[in-house]
Amino acid sequence: MNTHGTDEKTVESILSELKGRDTPYECILSSMCTYPHPIAAKAHRQFIEANLGDPGLFAGTAWIEREVVRMLGGLYNNPDAHGYITTGGTESNIQAIHAIRNARNMREPNIIVPASAHFSFDKVADILRVEVKKADLTHELMVDISSVEDLIDDNTIGIVGIAGTTEFGQIDPIKNLSDLAMASNLFLHVDAAFGGFVIPFLQENYEFDFTLPGVTSMAADPHKMGFSIIPAGGLLFRDPSYMDGLSVDTPYLSVTAQQTLSGTRSGASVAAAYAVLKHLGREGYERIVRRCMELTRGLLERVREAGIEPVIEPVMNVLVLDVPDVDLVRSKLKDRGWIVSITRDPYALRLVIMPHLTHENMNLFADDLCNIVSHG
Ligand code: PLP
Repeated sequence: MNTHGTDEKTVESILSELKGRDTPYECILSSMCTYPHPIAAKAHRQFIEANLGDPGLFAGTAWIEREVVRMLGGLYNNPDAHGYITTGGTESNIQAIHAIRNARNMREPNIIVPASAHFSFDKVADILRVEVKKADLTHELMVDISSVEDLIDDNTIGIVGIAGTTEFGQIDPIKNLSDLAMASNLFLHVDAAFGGFVIPFLQENYEFDFTLPGVTSMAADPHKMGFSIIPAGGLLFRDPSYMDGLSVDTPYLSVTAQQTLSGTRSGASVAAAYAVLKHLGREGYERIVRRCMELTRGLLERVREAGIEPVIEPVMNVLVLDVPDVDLVRSKLKDRGWIVSITRDPYALRLVIMPHLTHENMNLFADDLCNIVSHG
């Protein structure tokens, strides 16, 4: 650290220069985050100092968090859901399995996740010392129920379904997983970190939430398609017993117990999530999702004309394209200013069509991609 302070103007100019090195979202087709809604940014600034680690001191912010949980519970058909606003999908997945592990209290527990599960489940295995078994996928890249069934043994405590896989935007057959969980007396966690703010607003209907009796817990992130500020993940449990199982005593705080993974927590992120949920309402999110889906389908139509096919028909605003020499195409796109990513199996080009993308830049992107694939 420098010995003497630096004047504000100098600090600001250093920061501006560094911010200039960040990639603007308009060029990014690889991320599940986006610019936050302006109302979220305003609320964030207003609650900048609020610490939900000691909620007794911030009664208004604590009320807001309960209200966000209630709104999310309503969205996922369980207004009585219990939970809290985490730092994102990773923390939600860790805490969901943490709660399930504590509820079952078994010596060598295991859970079964789809092979398509986000890498946060590798962290679950490492941190919680729960074996994470990976079930095969069908040719449509959903989890294969018979593979899940085959992996269940006496030490299995829970299964996981993904509603909106990171790589393909596919939705696992959550209804079948729910039936299996009920029949086998297992917990079912639904990772809807991305899909949670897409699926309820699609024209098609998918069963993926607490309507299904086997669903124990869900993750759904305001900081992805929820249009809110990083960090904000939603973790919901069907009933309060799971949160109770995460409780530790907090003798010197304004409350006597804490169930969250972090101690000090951002009230600003929670206020931002509240502001954007309240402001957009279901209709606002429907508009955003409709637009992202139009862009996704429009892009697919354009690339199909050039003979490029998707690996699966897009279910949500994730488009995975089967192109020859993925690495070369990716690097040539980068030379033209576009950041895209890849999927592992099959190895293909992955595009996430987030709200920051427009018809104009999708057309430019389609021109570049078709040109690269046709002429190298
Ligand atoms: N689960 C799914 C399905 C995801 O797509 C992601 C991130 O993309 C996560 C969990 C992890 O979320 P985060 O990066 O917010 O921790």
